[in-house]
Amino acid sequence: MLVLGIESSCDETGLALYDTQRGLLAHALYSQVKMHEEYGGVVPELASRDHIRRAIPLLEKVLADSSVQRSEIDAIAYTQGPGLAGALLVGSSIACGLGLALDKPVLGVHHLEGHLLSPLLASEPPAFPFIALLVSGGHTQLMRVDGVGQYAMLGETLDDAAGEAFDKSAKLLGLGYPGGPAISRLAEFGDPNAYTLPRPMLHSKNLDFSFSGLKTAVLTVVKNHPANICEQDKANIARAFVDAIVDVLTAKCMTALKQTGLKRLVIAGGVGANRQLRESLNAAAAKRRYKVFYPELEFCTDNGAMIAFAGAMRLQRDPNLAKKEYGFNVKPRWPLDSLSAP
Ligand code: ATP
Ligand code: MG
Ligand code: FE
Repeated sequence: MLVLGIESSCDETGLALYDTQRGLLAHALYSQVKMHEEYGGVVPELASRDHIRRAIPLLEKVLADSSVQRSEIDAIAYTQGPGLAGALLVGSSIACGLGLALDKPVLGVHHLEGHLLSPLLASEPPAFPFIALLVSGGHTQLMRVDGVGQYAMLGETLDDAAGEAFDKSAKLLGLGYPGGPAISRLAEFGDPNAYTLPRPMLHSKNLDFSFSGLKTAVLTVVKNHPANICEQDKANIARAFVDAIVDVLTAKCMTALKQTGLKRLVIAGGVGANRQLRESLNAAAAKRRYKVFYPELEFCTDNGAMIAFAGAMRLQRDPNLAKKEYGFNVKPRWPLDSLSAP
């Protein structure tokens, strides 16, 4: 079965073709980062308009790259939510328009299910069940995953998401948007002993997170510096921030594995691209004989491949999930653990 995937929940337009026999045939991505940079964050109206401009050329590209004819597509999976309403509407309209024109069924996919299943696209995919740490720009959740659509929430952030903490702290250091990769690179040059920042909820008994206090702690350190804070000091603060957030994320993952008795840990979402987090998780897991699985680096942040793949996984289990119903039904807010198994 050949599935076209369309991602448009935020500031990346992603198109991909996934075949249940042959695997991922092609994927193409356009990131709007440059456009939103000057505003210091995503401007929803600009995001929607740009998805309209990019989607069809990206579709032509994945068709050409894979030498697939439109008529060969069996179903179209699009991101139905959660995300920016206007941006989601563009993806769903294009999916439904194509579906209507080609007489093919469409299926709305949960964006976070896409992230969560993206490590299964890697060359060494994890088997179910596993613990998943979903660390993206808008979410930080620990889930127990028993199969496609079988997600039990173990803990989540009470305030900021991990990616948001990276971005906000980077902004405080003047590193631009989105600052996750930049603050991570700068931290490499930092002295680990220069500052110590709090590790929120490290010793709480549950698996919840809280990162807004950490961002405030970065703000306090920055404020205590003269206006022309030197590069080395910035690197030291970046290092303290990265060490703190990585410590908390690692500790909670180890606790989740211990509590559930599971041996496999899967990391998904943009922050999963972070080098320091990967090193820390790998070291902690090796000590305890756990195995950690990651998506390919290019599939950590938003992309169309994960949407095509999640759609294909569902349709493989129940082909009737895709329907020739072309209404506009997006879900800007949609909890992941409300999904059911196909
Ligand atoms: P959601 O999926 O929750 O709706 P999103 O789609 O915006 O949010 P992603 O695309 O998964 O989130 O990830 C983007 C986030 O990942 C940003 O906050 C970005 O700063 C962060 N990020 C990307 N690469 C890195 C990195 N190397 N280190 C730290 N953070 C990173
Ligand atoms: Mg993005
Ligand atoms: Fe995302």
